[in-house]
Amino acid sequence: MPKKTVKDIKLKGQRVLVRVDFNVPLDKETGEITDDNRIVQALPTIKYIIEQGGKAILFSHLGKIKSEEDKIKNTLAPIARRLSELIKVEVKFVPTTRGVKLEQAINDMNNGDILLLENTRFEDLNGKKESKNDPELGKYWASLGDVFVNDAFGTAHRSHASNVGIASNIDCVSGFLMEKEINFIGGAVSNPKSPFIAILGGAKVSDKIAVIENLLAKADKVLIGGGMNYTFLKAQGYNVGESICELERVDFAKKLLEKGKEKLILPIDIAVSKAFNNDAPFRYTSVTDIKADEMGMDIGPKTIELFTKALIGAKTVVWNGPMGVFEMDNYTRGTIGICKAIAELKDATTIIGGGDSAAAAIQFGYRDKFSHISTGGGASLEYLEGKTLPGVKVIQDCGKHCG
Ligand code: ADP
Ligand code: MG
Repeated sequence: MPKKTVKDIKLKGQRVLVRVDFNVPLDKETGEITDDNRIVQALPTIKYIIEQGGKAILFSHLGKIKSEEDKIKNTLAPIARRLSELIKVEVKFVPTTRGVKLEQAINDMNNGDILLLENTRFEDLNGKKESKNDPELGKYWASLGDVFVNDAFGTAHRSHASNVGIASNIDCVSGFLMEKEINFIGGAVSNPKSPFIAILGGAKVSDKIAVIENLLAKADKVLIGGGMNYTFLKAQGYNVGESICELERVDFAKKLLEKGKEKLILPIDIAVSKAFNNDAPFRYTSVTDIKADEMGMDIGPKTIELFTKALIGAKTVVWNGPMGVFEMDNYTRGTIGICKAIAELKDATTIIGGGDSAAAAIQFGYRDKFSHISTGGGASLEYLEGKTLPGVKVIQDCGKHCG
């Protein structure tokens, strides 16, 4: 059932509480924002609310707050400044999460104004009120507004006071980013156009058991690369040398290999090296010939070709997890090769769900080549597992009244 969106409610003159995800990466030394993608992705919803004459009251967390020192590092003050530059409207920052000053500032708002509260997780120093979804806190924050727009997909796998808590007290609709994530990832998992091809990689099988199982059940083909592939190679009886390999998952991999015989496609060649760094030499080798002192770092050219061919004609592609240690220059080729293969598909819905894979595709210049690059790392992973996310569940269904 489709969800209500910000387009389905009255905004003019309303105090619109908006949960955004401004949990952006900061430079450890300077504290500067190193990637403002999440702020950029939240702009359409905020712009729409203020253009319609709503008063936008924004909530977000940033990092984890366990000490007074964390508060200094994770204030939202610089985020307010960046948002203001991007949206070209003054953003009033209120350096607190509750109390008279905040209430007064909200009272003083005119239609079309934007206000940002301090980091919602500052409440965590006070008995984890935000992260444990303290009912009083959700109720208090809800009392500051008339309606609630949840646009924080990146937090949707969590049941916190600033999403589920507020939504338990006032009507909740989705923002445009949330709507996009639900349509793309939710759509691919529940109602994909076939052929549907999933590409899975990243570090470990154990992080992704439920994703592999869910996608193996739904996709027509599943291509496996990255660190997780060595557990599968081991299950096939090959030597994997020093490669990352989870012995306690080999049986699981064996079962999947049996169950998904026709669907699973594994690498046939690999870039191997004797050290986990970018300075040591490397060679490409068949998966049947990994030496005891070598470790697999990336998929090889023959595998890129094999995967590229497997992708031809795909109508839906979901990708989670890089194909190699893409952080090292020598081992970017596999991940770039897959970006390229996906970029060349015509008439396909192509989606990346996964923090590192999304970062890799953006870093390699493929941001515009995918139908959708998810803003949620953990959230997109859980969505791909087929789970119902608490932050999505609280959004009202459309019924007859939408659109
Ligand atoms: P995502 O965030 O996209 O879900 P993961 O967090 O599961 O992806 O995995 C990303 C990490 O996997 C990267 O840091 C990458 O270096 C690592 N990785 C990929 N291939 C290998 C490999 N062959 N050996 C070790 N680590 C790998
Ligand atoms: Mg990751």
